[in-house]
Amino acid sequence: MKLFKIFSLFMLLALAVNVSAQKKYVMVIHGGAGTILKKNMTPEKEATYVATLTKALQAGYAEIKAGKSSLDAVEATIHVLENDPHFNAGKGAVFTHDGRNELDAAIMDGKTLMAGAVAGVTTVKNPISAARAVMEKSEHVMMVGSGADLFAKDAGLEIVDPKYFWTKERWDGLQEAIKEDSTKAVLDLGSKKSGLLGIKNHDYKFGTVGCVALDQAGNLASGTSTGGMTNKKYGRVGDAPIIGAGTYCNNETAGISCTGWGEFYIRNVVAKTISDLMEYKGLSVAEASKMALDKVGKMGGDGGLIALDKKGNVAMPFNTEGMYRGTITADGKIEVSIYK
Ligand code: ASP
Repeated sequence: MKLFKIFSLFMLLALAVNVSAQKKYVMVIHGGAGTILKKNMTPEKEATYVATLTKALQAGYAEIKAGKSSLDAVEATIHVLENDPHFNAGKGAVFTHDGRNELDAAIMDGKTLMAGAVAGVTTVKNPISAARAVMEKSEHVMMVGSGADLFAKDAGLEIVDPKYFWTKERWDGLQEAIKEDSTKAVLDLGSKKSGLLGIKNHDYKFGTVGCVALDQAGNLASGTSTGGMTNKKYGRVGDAPIIGAGTYCNNETAGISCTGWGEFYIRNVVAKTISDLMEYKGLSVAEASKMALDKVGKMGGDGGLIALDKKGNVAMPFNTEGMYRGTITADGKIEVSIYK
């Protein structure tokens, strides 16, 4: 009997050690998925990406540490990425066919299931904040175009001249895309798979951005911000601002942010599908994410996604050569990866 008690105690201890050894993630981010190959990257460029992804994670983590909400963490993180011209969001957004930057963003609160989104904005410096303003300061979920720009201005957000978003790299990317095929939008990657679109393997820089955070109160939030696809037609809206397609969040399941060929994500309602697979089928966040992305791949779409559940488990699948991504655990340990 005594031996049995000692054995039980030992088992309990082993279990406790195992549980505490399990990593609890509090944030996950992406900076876009695509043909990101080490051979096309200089050490300097790679270091720049790693530094910005790290800085973004630190910005969000500071909010969580200070006891702020996961929404605050998502917004602070995405600001860093939107303000960095290397990513296809905010400054550094890709160009539409007619040479404009039309930005999309969405944010969602996993506790209340409130959501906000903007599409096709051209003057809001940080579209993720415009999405949050729509969620918190209007009775709507989504606003588009000049109305959304005006709403953001009235909400007191920073407004810039559309020229602010111009970068040479993205402009050159548009000229290349037009040369290849004037009528087809391309993911900002030039993947071999995007050869389906008739595009060769250009070294387009890829970089829609997204973040999911879990705060100290146990609430999840997710957000996505993008310039969309290079050479997109005027008025085209991708998956990022569509709640349930590119962005979704529910405390009962997970927060999700997607990146990739948006039309496929919209048609597969990817983010909500992941949540549904968890809620109705009892799948883990990793199983549900893989299943939803596999479906995108089978239909010919490419990209990736990030997901974080309320227990702090993450999934970061992608079916491209690489995806800029990073995580931070409750103890502040950062991991950033780019390639497969
Ligand atoms: N999903 C975005 C869109 O289709 C593009 C991306 O993720 O890079 O607009």
